[in-house]
Parts: sequence; C-alpha cells; structure tokens
Amino acid sequence: MPLKTGTEYIATIKALNLESHILGKNETGLTDHPLIQPSVSAVAATFDGAHSADEQTRQLFRARSPLCDAEVNRFTHLHQSPRDLMNKVIMQRRCGNLTGCCFQRCVGMDAANAVFSVSFECDRRHKTQYHERFTNYWRRIQTEDLVVDGAMTDPKGDRGKRPKDQKDPDLYLRVVKRKSGGVVVRGAKLHQTGMLNSHELIVMPTINLRPGEEDWSISFAMPTNTPGVKFIYGRQTSDTRKLEAFNMDVGNMKFGGQEVMTVFDDVFVPDDRIFLCGETDFSGLMVERFAAYHRQSYGGCKVGVGDILIGATALIAKMNGVENASHIKEKLVEMIHLNETMFSCGIACSAMGHPTAAGNFEIDMLLANVCKLNVTRFPYEMARLATDIAGGLLGTLPSAADLNDEVAGPYIRKYLAAADGVEVIDRIRVFRLIENLVAGAGSVAYLIESMHGAGPPAAQRIMIGRQGDIEGKIQKVKELIGIKKPN
Ligand SMILES: Cc1cc2nc3c(=O)[nH]c(=O)nc-3n(C[C@H](O)[C@H](O)[C@H](O)COP(=O)(O)OP(=O)(O)OC[C@H]3O[C@@H](n4cnc5c(N)ncnc54)[C@H](O)[C@@H]3O)c2cc1C
Ligand code: SF4
Repeated sequence: MPLKTGTEYIATIKALNLESHILGKNETGLTDHPLIQPSVSAVAATFDGAHSADEQTRQLFRARSPLCDAEVNRFTHLHQSPRDLMNKVIMQRRCGNLTGCCFQRCVGMDAANAVFSVSFECDRRHKTQYHERFTNYWRRIQTEDLVVDGAMTDPKGDRGKRPKDQKDPDLYLRVVKRKSGGVVVRGAKLHQTGMLNSHELIVMPTINLRPGEEDWSISFAMPTNTPGVKFIYGRQTSDTRKLEAFNMDVGNMKFGGQEVMTVFDDVFVPDDRIFLCGETDFSGLMVERFAAYHRQSYGGCKVGVGDILIGATALIAKMNGVENASHIKEKLVEMIHLNETMFSCGIACSAMGHPTAAGNFEIDMLLANVCKLNVTRFPYEMARLATDIAGGLLGTLPSAADLNDEVAGPYIRKYLAAADGVEVIDRIRVFRLIENLVAGAGSVAYLIESMHGAGPPAAQRIMIGRQGDIEGKIQKVKELIGIKKPN
C-alpha cells in the first residue's frame, strides 16, 4: 500500500544523504541536524495523518487515485472533484493545527496539479509528449509516497529586465546545452520550502516567457540528491535558539519549516523528466496554475496556524487575568473573523472548482487570488492583535536558561507570576509560542511567506483585475437601467 508512516518517511530521507551549506559549514546527516530536524518532523506529520487513530483525520489524509488505482496520501493526489479541492484545504488546516508551522508538502502537490494539466494542453497544441512522461513520473511518486518540492522562484536579478537582458543570464534558470537524451540546466531557485527533506523536486518557470526566451521555458523533475544540485540553508529569525540546550525559547519545540537556495550547477536532465522545454506559450499558464493552487493552499495552512495563534492568545489572556475585559473579547472575535474569512476563501475557490482538459480539477482562479490577497494582510493584523493582548513580555522575557540559575531563577518565578493557579513556566511557554509566530522562526512562514509566497500582492491584484470582468459588470448595469448604446 503506498502510504508511508512518518517514521518510514524519515528513514527514506536519511538514506538520500543530502548535503547542505548551513551557517558556514558543509553539513550532512540533515535529519538529525537541530535546524532541520523540526522541519523533518513537520513533514512526517503529513504521513502520520494518513495513519491517524482518528477515522476522520485518516480519511482526510487519504484519497483514491485513478492514476495508480490505489489509496494515496492526499499530498500526492491529483484532485478529482470540488470535494477533493475542499478536502485539501481542510487537511491543510488540520496540519497547521497539528504542527503550528509550515509543513512544506503542499508545494509539490500544487506543482503536480499544475504540470499535469498544462503538459496535457501543451501536447495538444505542439504534439509533444510531456503529459505521458509526467503521468508516469507522478504515478511513481504516488506509489512510493514521496515528498516533492515545487521550485518556481528564480533569483530574477534586475526586476526591470527580461531574462535574456540580465547581465548574467543564469539569474533565471535556463537550458545551457542540448544533448541527445536530455538537456543541461544552469541557474538557481530561491526560497525553496522543505527542500532538505524532500525526495524530489519539480522545476517550473517563474514568469510568462516570450518567443526568443525558449531556453528559460523549462520544467522538469529530478531527485534532490542529483549530482550538481547544491543547497544553501536560508536562516530564520532566532534560528540558533534551536542549537541551544534550553530550547523552550524556540517557542515551537517540535516542529518548524525550512527554506533553501537551490543551485543547479550544469545539471543533466534526461528527456523522460522534462515536461516543458521551449514552448514559451505555456510558461505563463504553468506559473498561473501553480500560483493559483498555492494561493488556495494558504486558505488552509495559514488558517490552521492562525487557530494556534488565536488559542495561544486566548490562553495568555487567561493567564494574565484579562480574559473577561470587553476589548480583549472583541479582539479575539476579530482574530477569529479574520481567520475564518481566509478559510471561507479557501473553501469557496475549491467549491467553485472545475475540471481541466486533462481531467484533474482546478480551483476558481479569481477566488483563489482573493484568498491570497487576504492572506497578505490578515495574518499581520492577527499578529498585531496577539501582540497587543499578550503584553510586552513577548519581547523581553528572560531565557529558559535563567530559570535554572540559582540567583535569577527564583526572581523569575516570583515576578512572572500572574493569575492564580498558573505555572510560570507554562506562561513562558505560551509567550514563546506567540513570539515564534509573530517575530521568531515561525514568522517566516506565518508572516513573510503570507506576503510573498505564491507571489506578492501586486501579482494577485493583476489576476483579480484580469478575472474580475469589469466589462461584464458594466454590461449588467446597462441592462438593468436600459442603456442601449454600446459605449
Ligand atoms: C517563506 C517563503 C517560502 C517560499 N517558498 C517557495 C517555494 O517553495 N518555491 C518557490 O518556488 N518559491 C517560494 N517562495 C518564493 C515566493 O514565491 C517569492 O518570494 C515571491 O514570488 C516574490 O518574489 P521575490 O521574493 O523575488 O520578490 P520580488 O519579486 O523582488 O518582489 C518584491 C517587490 O517588488 C515588486 N516587483 C517585483 N518585480 C517587479 C516588476 N517587474 N515590476 C514592478 N514591481 C515588481 C513586487 O510586487 C514586490 O512588491 C517562498 C517565499 C517565501 C518568503
Ligand atoms: S506555506 Fe502553507 S501551503 Fe505552502 S508549503 Fe507551507 S504549509 Fe503548505
């Protein structure tokens, strides 16, 4: 049965023997590295969900795949209906609840659903063979229950210039050599979520390419341990707290996310792993579809983490003895309202989904972009409200190490006491969890990624402008009040 447990997943990642540059050192044994291990655990949760003792959770994490005629982990599923699309979002919320962080596995799922349909449409127009290749590739991913990273974002150099006009043409990943049986690629992909604990990666172009830019119009897959692929760890706020013995200060002690710069130093890609190569007219569609699926994803994952932030904020209010103040109650209601609005958008764009020509289901593009535009704002507002309610200790708490100091420890226990019956150490734990999400390592995914992941707000506004049908709305007004002139 193609459904690994978290423990089985970790063993297969260990066996990859990936190497990464981390804080100035060349590191191996990444599954045990204190900066990477929390992120391995977060992905392991996506496997354990499919084996949960709770029947509802177990069913949520599983789906029947027509591709391999078996039950697969939903993180590898090609969506077959609006119900599937909704279950994806509900599963992501559940995962956010379980881990309180980015669990990384959605980028590959979103890339797969985009490449599956775009390769089909490209084959129809260009008589290429990408769709069958991709289908064969993805059947293996489902059968072996692998984690795939979605690699879209190029470094982009001078944002005002096209790839071919950059001083260094490698600032967008490109084909540098065509050989019999494949191509050689050079370039980098930045901000790659969960790359160091993924088995495979799928590369896609970053922008809509034009005729004359064929070398940059490339999509392919490869194992993460392919020779010539190199990783440079992207550090997160307060990440070295994970290296300390008293790691209660990390806030989220079990789970975390991780992003890396991935370099492709003249790497050979065999034909059977290439899903787009030179067809510039499909590059933009691939970007758009992947981005829309990932914009939908945020209506689940950010909401799941938002539940944790709301819970922690309500708990600290209780611990501080202010839970009955009317302004505190109002602010908690506001946080819930913001969180559920994002969830509603995630569900709405899924419920309004439709089949692609290839047969998998796509979300409603307009609503997915509305979802993500809200995500660029609401978690920031929720973080502001959490900071307001928690109080200044969020930024000034003594370290966990001082709790064990014979002089400092008793003072901390005496002066950080609050409401009756509250253990000081528990209060500190809650502060640290909130700090993690609003200003610590967790804020990379909860805030910065909410702004930039799947594209910055301007990208969503462009799509909303394009999909919003202003002309259609003008027409409706004319019909309503009887204006007959065309302009
Ligand atoms: C935590 C995190 C995780 C991520 N995970 C992944 C991942 O797994 N895979 C992946 O492929 N990517 C990932 N991303 C990348 C993400 O998609 C990009 O950060 C995003 O698309 C913005 O690109 P950028 O960071 O280069 O910013 P920029 O493109 O430099 O944007 C900065 C600002 O400049 C503006 N701007 C940029 N270009 C122009 C222009 N030509 N004209 C006018 N304005 C412009 C933008 O609108 C924005 O306001 C992740 C990002 C983060 C922060
Ligand atoms: S940011 Fe959210 S959607 Fe993207 S990989 Fe992380 S958990 Fe999944």
